[in-house]
Amino acid sequence: MLLFSIMKGNICPICGSKNIKQWYPANLDPKKLRFTYEFTQETGNTFCVVRCLNCTHVFCSPIPKNIYKNYKDVIDKEYLRHAQSRILSAKAVLRILSKLKSTGRLLDVGCATGDFLIVAKELGYTIEGLELSRWSSEIAKKKGIIVCKKSLKLLAKQFSKKYDVITLWGVIEHLENPKEEMRYLNHLLKPGGLLVLWTGDVDGIISKILGRRWWYWQGQHIQYFTHKSLNCLAKLSGFKHIATKRYIFATTYDQLNNSLKRFWFGKYIMMILKFGFIIKPIWYLSLPGEMLWIARKIRRIN
Ligand SMILES: [Zn+2]
Repeated sequence: MLLFSIMKGNICPICGSKNIKQWYPANLDPKKLRFTYEFTQETGNTFCVVRCLNCTHVFCSPIPKNIYKNYKDVIDKEYLRHAQSRILSAKAVLRILSKLKSTGRLLDVGCATGDFLIVAKELGYTIEGLELSRWSSEIAKKKGIIVCKKSLKLLAKQFSKKYDVITLWGVIEHLENPKEEMRYLNHLLKPGGLLVLWTGDVDGIISKILGRRWWYWQGQHIQYFTHKSLNCLAKLSGFKHIATKRYIFATTYDQLNNSLKRFWFGKYIMMILKFGFIIKPIWYLSLPGEMLWIARKIRRIN
């Protein structure tokens, strides 16, 4: 149900408009906020979310502060179980990315255990990762990856125009201040460098069909982009949007089963799909609204 009460005192973190309306009221107990891939039916509970009527961006209000500090202590054994899916997804995504830029220095922000970076390295990119979780970054380092445990802000203080490509997979929805982080990304990219990210489109057809059950509604997500609000953010941050494709998500039975645990009907869907996975163990899903969004740095911003 959509509640259209005017929210006073709110400012859109993307366009700065004060024309904000409530979208969903809070149904999350902050003490039950989770940071792992082990999904339950409570995973879909969120803080109060609102929508900017100017740029269409949807975001938590008030913006929960310092959530990112929790990522430092995240240990996620469930995440490790799905490395095969991530590696196959990385191969599919890099086939698209390599057509635009096939070599160069690549930074993956929120690199977790480094599965994407290992595939990028095999294809010839010079790789680096940024990861706040001590546990994940140690695993990535053991694979021989250079991992920075600092924030983007600190990395941007140290370097400028260093990278040809920066990727963010399922990261931008977690950011408290995406506009500020885009400034750091702009600073870190070389002129003409590529920014490539994956996030859901809150105005996409699947979000509209599933409503409150859409899988991007999660307590740990602060920002919910639309194609329009993402392009607005790009324009304000010195980027030119060049393409939006569908993210290619490789999934196994285990991975999909875990993802569907947040829905009461998930086990029934998996009972039907089980036989399909016996015949074909890996499925490639390319769903509408799963944005593989690509932009190019066209000007420097301060
Ligand atoms: Zn806005």
